[in-house]
Amino acid sequence: MSIADNLARVEGQMASSCRHAGRPRNSVRLMAVSKTHPPESILEAHAAGIHLFGENRVQEYAEKHAALVAAGVFATQSSMSVHCIGHLQTNKAARAVQLFDAIDAVDSLRLAERLNQAATDLDKHLPILIEIKLSPEEAKHGLAPDGAELDELCERLPDLLHLQVRGLMTVPPYADDLEQVRPYFRQLRLLRDSLAQRCPRLALDELSMGMSHDFSVAIEEGATVVRVGTAIFGARASV
Ligand SMILES: *Cc1c(COP(=O)(O)O)cnc(C)c1O
Repeated sequence: MSIADNLARVEGQMASSCRHAGRPRNSVRLMAVSKTHPPESILEAHAAGIHLFGENRVQEYAEKHAALVAAGVFATQSSMSVHCIGHLQTNKAARAVQLFDAIDAVDSLRLAERLNQAATDLDKHLPILIEIKLSPEEAKHGLAPDGAELDELCERLPDLLHLQVRGLMTVPPYADDLEQVRPYFRQLRLLRDSLAQRCPRLALDELSMGMSHDFSVAIEEGATVVRVGTAIFGARASV
């Protein structure tokens, strides 16, 4: 299967999930998660009509970015947007702000402060999402939905003038049974609704949730962006 074939299949599934949920198709965007795949694959997906990409490592994307610049994709009007969707160490914040169009996994107040400083230095306005951790698994990043740091971050964000918060993202625990994943997606939407009430100065329209195996349920629960890797680019070599 080519990347274009895979995209057509994912597109068909997204359209059918939208119909099922009674949502207009244009209320959900598809992000192609290209981590571990070469720049050629990104170019292939771009040629097939994808403009939004997700990468999770600064160093890995720095190398691909150079190849994409050389290929001229950032020169055209139809250019692409690449978001950082992985955990970002604060010491890489400045480099990330240079490379990425948005940071979708802001998981601490300290990181937000660093990103704002870097964006100020580069005179850039940086869209961000707040990453929320809805399950207690040790391995995952994100702010607790009921913790003090999330409240502090939301209070502080209006003063971080070079950050534009757009919404929330989450990575729920994996489950074969999608009905076990659904409550996490629903919980993110409800959290967004309550934060939006408590913090009316923040724009929290985006809900980035859903991956290759569970994006249809995420769409039913209100995702505005689904992050799809494997179903577009094929299996990743294990790292
Ligand atoms: C890798 C990754 C994805 C894509 O996962 P697939 O199962 O390959 O679709 C989505 N979101 C995040 C944060 C990821 O790291």
